[in-house]
Amino acid sequence: MSSGRSSVAVANTSLTVDRLDRLTDRVRSTTDETIAVEAPATADRIGSVPDCSDADVDAAVAAAREAHADWAATPVDQRAAVIDRFSELVVDHRAELLDLLQLETGKSRQTAAEGLFSVPSACEQAVDRGPEAVADEPRGGGIPLLTTATVTYEPVGVVGVISPWNYPVTLSMADVIPALVAGNAVVLKPDEKTPYATLFLAELLERAGLPDDVLRVVTGEGGAVGPALIDRVDYVAFTGGTETGRAVAERAGRNLIDCSLELGGKNPLIVLDDADVEEAARGATTACFANAGQLCLSAERILVDESVFDDFLEAFVERTRQLTLGTAYDYDAEIGSLIDAAQLDRVRSRVEAAREAGATVHTGGRHRPDVGPYCYDPTILTGVDPDSQIACEETFGPVVTVQPVESTDAAVAAANDSPYGLNASVWTGDRSRGQRVARQVDCGTVCVNDGFAVGWGATDAPMGGFGDSGIGRRQGDEGIKRYLEARTVATSRVGPLVPSDQLPMGWVVEGASTAWQAGRRIKRAVRSLRR
Ligand code: NDP
Repeated sequence: MSSGRSSVAVANTSLTVDRLDRLTDRVRSTTDETIAVEAPATADRIGSVPDCSDADVDAAVAAAREAHADWAATPVDQRAAVIDRFSELVVDHRAELLDLLQLETGKSRQTAAEGLFSVPSACEQAVDRGPEAVADEPRGGGIPLLTTATVTYEPVGVVGVISPWNYPVTLSMADVIPALVAGNAVVLKPDEKTPYATLFLAELLERAGLPDDVLRVVTGEGGAVGPALIDRVDYVAFTGGTETGRAVAERAGRNLIDCSLELGGKNPLIVLDDADVEEAARGATTACFANAGQLCLSAERILVDESVFDDFLEAFVERTRQLTLGTAYDYDAEIGSLIDAAQLDRVRSRVEAAREAGATVHTGGRHRPDVGPYCYDPTILTGVDPDSQIACEETFGPVVTVQPVESTDAAVAAANDSPYGLNASVWTGDRSRGQRVARQVDCGTVCVNDGFAVGWGATDAPMGGFGDSGIGRRQGDEGIKRYLEARTVATSRVGPLVPSDQLPMGWVVEGASTAWQAGRRIKRAVRSLRR
């Protein structure tokens, strides 16, 4: 398998080509078809993974289904203990994981480290909240005192997780870990561009005590393996582009299985008239350019109150010019490479189209082959046509447009003028005002005085999108509950709720009406006392 590969790409890491091959061996496949994997930092081929067939997906789901019964019967505290051990192993093996992440994504090490620490954080949330999320819940019965209802939760079965290339560790584990604590088995399909870090995590989960086949990994082209997976699992958790998300939802719908979709965004960052523009500019550089802008939560539109527009723009351009580009295996550079030639073309062509249409490029707007074949400078544009592609569609690159707005209302209206609604950020000197403005923005998360980290880091709270940005929520109790079937066990203390042989029906209707009216009066009185 090593033929035709460059060992140069792994030369400055703790990795070897044999180690990559051993990780690949975790994918069980009977096909000879493979897909090459490239290191974006150098465009070297570093290995290949199986292009799994329908039969491979079938076998993976069947094995996961068989393993599921014992895992579901394992007490939740023991499942949580496996996840807790896994999080420790992730931190212990951070050097190898960071090397893998950088190798297959071309990220800077700084960005890779941010992604890595989101895994223990997801594990902690699952360990803390999992037991309560799966516990029985007593609810009100239909007739007080006479009937009871209890909701019990069962794992849905086998969950299919389809994850993208931009944050292979963070975004796969954000869906896998809550599924496991809830008692499900998982079949995970990483993006074929970035399989190795995910396969390493599967190895660590096994070492933490996850039984065989409770997590299986399949690799291959999303257009073939994705549908094959969706046709066989009981739930699908998908992260990726909006158009692919529509196809996933359609297929899940046909199979009558539930799904969660975290899709694209055209995220606004609003700078209000009372904001500290230096702070806002400092935050905006990370909000826009982390992971070279290849982040679903990245800000791609900055809307600045016109009273502070010039000051903000000057500070933002100045800070952005100081960002360092690089893909070395150290912490010196802030911004790494784009994932591949297609992503580079998309960024370049959109910036060129904007430039030709009269936009001003304040900094960036340059391919940087001197740093890496797919590197591109962080780019700030003003004077962009509001109906152009770069203004309306997700670029997923290190490019942001900055636009003045005449008032807070205008900023909110512009922020909401998008089919997307994933993440937004509001900058202000008055946090209460920021929270009030946040409530008017139609996004799944709105961060006040931060770009996205404060929202993503709130793992106890749900995260997801309005509109074209997706369906469902990950993180928080919602992120675990999505993987559970609710069963209501309702019990009568007085025998069957059918007309009594002894009581005439007229008496029953009169008695029930009187009881209902009395009950309603008591409830009203209790509600007004509470207010
Ligand atoms: P995709 O949506 O194509 O890919 C995401 C995942 O879905 C990958 O694992 C992919 O497999 C898989 N996939 C592809 N086609 C199907 C299908 N028909 N059914 C099921 N799964 C499928 O994203 P891209 O990588 O092409 O990126 C395109 C754009 O999507 C980006 O430029 C960005 O705008 C957005 N995006 C958003 C992300 C987010 O975090 N919300 C993450 C990544 C992308 P494979 O690639 O292996 O073929």
